[in-house]
Amino acid sequence: MTQGDFRLISQGGTAWLECASLARFSWLVHAFGTRLAGHGPASASGLGTGATGLGEPRNAPTERTGLPEVPGATGFSVASLQQVHSANIYRVSRAGGGLRYQALPPISNARSIAARGASVASAGPFCGDAMITGQPGILLSIRTADCLPILLVDARHGAAAAIHCGWRGALTGIVEKSVVEMRRAFESRPEELLAAMGPSIRACCYEVGDEVVSAFRERLASVEGLFRIVSQAALPPDQPPRETTSAAETAAACRSRNAPRRHLDLVAAARRQLLAAGLQAPNLFVADYCTACRPDLFFSYRREGNSTGRMTALIGISN
Ligand SMILES: [Zn+2]
Repeated sequence: MTQGDFRLISQGGTAWLECASLARFSWLVHAFGTRLAGHGPASASGLGTGATGLGEPRNAPTERTGLPEVPGATGFSVASLQQVHSANIYRVSRAGGGLRYQALPPISNARSIAARGASVASAGPFCGDAMITGQPGILLSIRTADCLPILLVDARHGAAAAIHCGWRGALTGIVEKSVVEMRRAFESRPEELLAAMGPSIRACCYEVGDEVVSAFRERLASVEGLFRIVSQAALPPDQPPRETTSAAETAAACRSRNAPRRHLDLVAAARRQLLAAGLQAPNLFVADYCTACRPDLFFSYRREGNSTGRMTALIGISN
């Protein structure tokens, strides 16, 4: 099944999305996992040893981590973070038999890691929401269940990034900062970077409260185009007003019922950051799937609650 630049690939009980514009690079491995995922290289590389995402059940069975068994990804070391909706970014490289996570600025809540400069994966999961690498044999993995997974590719320098972007991450500037770190680390040219945005909850389903709207207004110069106003007036009332209800109560209930709801367009927020960082619009690719609308394919935190599984997005450079 093909939808835009993305193709849903089913193989041996596993299914994942592939972005055609990334798949054309033979040296690159990437996938956006679905809920139809196998064990894959995760179980072999220790992804289930505690480096789980925020909110993921501690004893989540490995088949619910949503890691796709992507052909060509065997033998890779899987890099993952404890995702905390931060702006913390790590450069991942091989070190001995393990992986080295080098914290890149800015570090706000991991000063001890910054002081050490670097450590290895066995020291425990690091808190952060984006990773970059220029080395082969490393699969950067991001887990989501409504948040937006973003994969960046620098074909000129053979480098990649994986980003976890929810509304809090969007406000931290994690997307823009990841591009900055790719420039620093690999001399990446933003105008040449490709960005693939995987499935996430979309504006059709992502109703947000006033605190989210306020947070965006406080942090961004403009929120134009980021919120979709959805009128409730056309919907049938939940309950007819009781005859005993006072006129004031009835009026208040009507106002509440008819108040427009705000839906956040997280993809628009991410696109804005990518463009601000220097990427070109034709190099941005968005998977046209809403996680909340497609329970057949995706986990959704909003739809299923905290007990839902997580999908894994992967990107790595072949040996
Ligand atoms: Zn939807």
